[in-house]
Amino acid sequence: MAKMYYNGDANPHYLQGKKVAVIGYGSQGHAHSQNLRDSGVEVVIGLRKGRSWDQAVEDGFQVYSVGEATAQADVVMILLPDELQPTVYKNEIEPNLTNQALMFAHGFNIHFNQIKAPKESDVLLVAPKGPGHLVRRVYTEGAGVPALFAVFQDVTGEARDLALSYAHGIGSLRAGALETTFKEETETDLFGEQAVLCGGVSALVKAGFETLTEAGYQPELAYFECLHELKLIVDLMYEGGLEGMRYSISDTAQWGDFVSGPRVVTPAVKAEMKEVLKDIQEGRFAKGWILENQANRPEFTAINENEKQHPIEVVGRELRAMMPFVNQGKKKEVAAVAK
Ligand code: NDP
Ligand code: MG
Ligand code: MG
Repeated sequence: MAKMYYNGDANPHYLQGKKVAVIGYGSQGHAHSQNLRDSGVEVVIGLRKGRSWDQAVEDGFQVYSVGEATAQADVVMILLPDELQPTVYKNEIEPNLTNQALMFAHGFNIHFNQIKAPKESDVLLVAPKGPGHLVRRVYTEGAGVPALFAVFQDVTGEARDLALSYAHGIGSLRAGALETTFKEETETDLFGEQAVLCGGVSALVKAGFETLTEAGYQPELAYFECLHELKLIVDLMYEGGLEGMRYSISDTAQWGDFVSGPRVVTPAVKAEMKEVLKDIQEGRFAKGWILENQANRPEFTAINENEKQHPIEVVGRELRAMMPFVNQGKKKEVAAVAK
């Protein structure tokens, strides 16, 4: 088994006396800042004026412009949207770098050459394997979200110590961290979200819903069957793997899982997954996304609007309005980061 790093592997004092500038206060930014602060690390926030700025102030942080936060810090963690990082880096971060360590939560911009690593800085990443709101929620519950860490450039000889201390500070070493490279983190993160976690799952859910409703079954029923119940099944997988999930379901469901699962995810689907992976590895996905942003996101916006009108979304909005308990936790967190 690969070496996993836990709390005992980090020097918890490493970040003492050092100042961390967290740039951005969104999904990951608010979670990293608050977890680090609760772990005793000095944190300042770098932002532009706006909603996140007001929220960070309300949460008791010292908030500065990106340039001012960068200039006064020892460690700069960039938690801006990936597509905006190159411009903000060039205009506001790079001019204020002396030898601060530069950190990321995703390797996209370094790996795909959108940000050129500064010669004098350690460059590393700590990437929690979970949404930011859970990085915060799970920390407050005394647990942690697992993370990957990687060193791209080690000028001081201390980049690994910093990565582990940072992972410790955000609570990830409670769950375990795995060492990787920028290349491996970037490619696997993009593949996971495209083929399985986000793209694969939403396509599977929609296809199941459409199959039932096109056969004349009630949309409300199809929503419960193909979307709502997914969470309950995934929770079982989270706790006990596929085996744990199969222990809880009926033998009839398990037999259906064995005989019909491979009819849905066929060898052709897996072959297509390999094509998706190749597009990522060979830079085609990154190029398309970078150009889409340069063109002001015409395709992203059009698809996003169409998706909101899909019948599963229409019926889902109505049903969730009747189940206020479903997203109460999320609403509180969303209000907390004002997004
Ligand atoms: P969000 O979109 O949630 O947050 C972005 C933040 O950046 C907001 O606070 C926003 O403030 C601020 N911002 C945007 N533009 C500027 C600007 N020009 N100047 C200053 N501040 C700005 O980002 P995420 O947390 O989703 O992503 C951050 C990084 O974390 C990415 O590299 C991503 O790949 C990585 N990551 C994200 C995960 C997630 O759970 N979302 C999971 C693992 C990694 P404002 O309110 O002003 O817009
Ligand atoms: Mg991810
Ligand atoms: Mg990602």
